[in-house]
Amino acid sequence: MSIPLLFGLLALTLGVVGDETPEAQSPQSACASLQSLLGATIVQTPAAGSSFQTIVGTPLNLANNELTPSCVVIPQNTSHVSTAMKAIYKTKSRYAVLAGGHSAMKGWNAVRDGVLIYFRDMKAVSYDSRKDTITMQPGVRWGEAVNTLAPLGVAPVGGRAAHVGSGFLLGGGISFLSPSLGYGADLYKELDVVLVDGSVVTATANNKYSDLFRALKGGANRFGIVTRYELYPFHSGKQSDKTWFGGTITYPGSFVEDVLRATARYTKNVDDPNATIFVTLEHIVNAPANKIDTVVQANIFYHGKSLPPKIFGDFLSIPASNKSLSALSYADIVANTFPANDDHGSTYLYGASTRRGGDEKAFVDALNFNLNFTESLKRDLAWTALTFTPIPDSQIKAGRARGGNAIDAPLTGGYAVMQIMQTLPVGVVDVPPAVANGKKKLLSQIKPVPGLPLFINECDALQNVFATYGGYDFLKKTYKKYDPTRFNIGHTDGPIGL
Ligand SMILES: Cc1cc2nc3c(=O)[nH]c(=O)nc-3n(C[C@H](O)[C@H](O)[C@H](O)COP(=O)(O)OP(=O)(O)OC[C@H]3O[C@@H](n4cnc5c(N)ncnc54)[C@H](O)[C@@H]3O)c2cc1C
Repeated sequence: MSIPLLFGLLALTLGVVGDETPEAQSPQSACASLQSLLGATIVQTPAAGSSFQTIVGTPLNLANNELTPSCVVIPQNTSHVSTAMKAIYKTKSRYAVLAGGHSAMKGWNAVRDGVLIYFRDMKAVSYDSRKDTITMQPGVRWGEAVNTLAPLGVAPVGGRAAHVGSGFLLGGGISFLSPSLGYGADLYKELDVVLVDGSVVTATANNKYSDLFRALKGGANRFGIVTRYELYPFHSGKQSDKTWFGGTITYPGSFVEDVLRATARYTKNVDDPNATIFVTLEHIVNAPANKIDTVVQANIFYHGKSLPPKIFGDFLSIPASNKSLSALSYADIVANTFPANDDHGSTYLYGASTRRGGDEKAFVDALNFNLNFTESLKRDLAWTALTFTPIPDSQIKAGRARGGNAIDAPLTGGYAVMQIMQTLPVGVVDVPPAVANGKKKLLSQIKPVPGLPLFINECDALQNVFATYGGYDFLKKTYKKYDPTRFNIGHTDGPIGL
């Protein structure tokens, strides 16, 4: 008997869909039901699925490649997602949703012994000039969206890395365009959402699902599965319109403190929506030399003809080992900043913190804590990194002007979010206890500033990011309304705190 036929019979026997099934069943029963309903091309199993292994290997983080689902659903439309969620809900299966695969948190985009919904075949992106909106399916990555739309002179307010996917939006999403337009999610116009029980709703800022609409601006994977994003665009101009200036400056490790002090000052002083930066420092374990090498880079861009010295003077005057600065189109910036998706094969760990603008000491302390941490665990680590992104008041005001988001950050005159990252040596999946403990200590040393929201796209899974949001109470209330049985929290990994 063929596997699909076997599954089909199983599904009929179990009566999985359209029947009352109070007890949890095996994930195989959801897969069996789904295969009979959607067919073996859309629902693939380890035994019979030409794409199955490739899909399991899609998440960037090796720790997630190790989680093998019972089956993968590759929907082609919203109705397929709805069918999948109905079966998952009925059978009380574990599940996960995979878009661009860039979440570092274990289990947030992969599932062992459950159903994985992967948007590989829902990648359409288009622009309606009459409505002036972009419509995107969730499988598209930012580089693809930007390249498709550049000939039309528009771009989504999307990721800074071309290969990151649309899950970016559900965590808020910090774009190069954020200082002028807000978080990526602030640009939502309309969302199609499959709720946890499989029902489908369209949420907007003004209809009866306006609470859901707002919750999906920062609520991550907890509130439903978005199958269509309609977004207000950035009028970027075409690929040939080099209306930006900037690029990457690399500094020798000896100037890392100067760069961080400059970043602290920039965070406080710059509220020009045309300016956008992020600064990364890496501590790389140089095993043969038994030492840690420090590399620091400032990625600085201005929407204008040149880099105004008043804004970027500090970064331009620190002695650099390399400067790659030129006139650029918006599409160039997205294509060049993280050019390749070639970092598979390693386990990444993230953590989040915040820094008040102007607090140079706190920026430099973070550097020293990270260096000590890396030094003490150098046998177990390949490299570590701290990335600082200023959140100017202009970004928060732009979001508020579009109805606000769940993050609901305060106006402080500028603060920075920090990503704290560790990378294990290639091929190592399990986090050594010394690293796990050391990381806990590191996060307690690089303390977040009370009252400033952490950034969920860059957090540790044990950090209660939602509790740092201005909209925390709103999020809890909205979650209760849309998932009263707490199915999502019980059956998929994701942020804690609801
Ligand atoms: C190299 C790199 C660069 C990055 N740069 C940035 C940056 O500039 N700005 C920024 O904000 N973040 C950035 N990130 C973080 C990134 O945005 C988040 O990890 C984001 O969640 C990735 O989305 P994804 O679709 O690629 O990943 P996935 O792991 O596929 O999805 C992320 C999460 O969202 C859920 N999800 C995805 N799609 C849906 C959906 N349609 N409905 C419901 N749930 C869904 C997934 O289940 C998962 O929990 C970066 C990450 C990396 C690795």
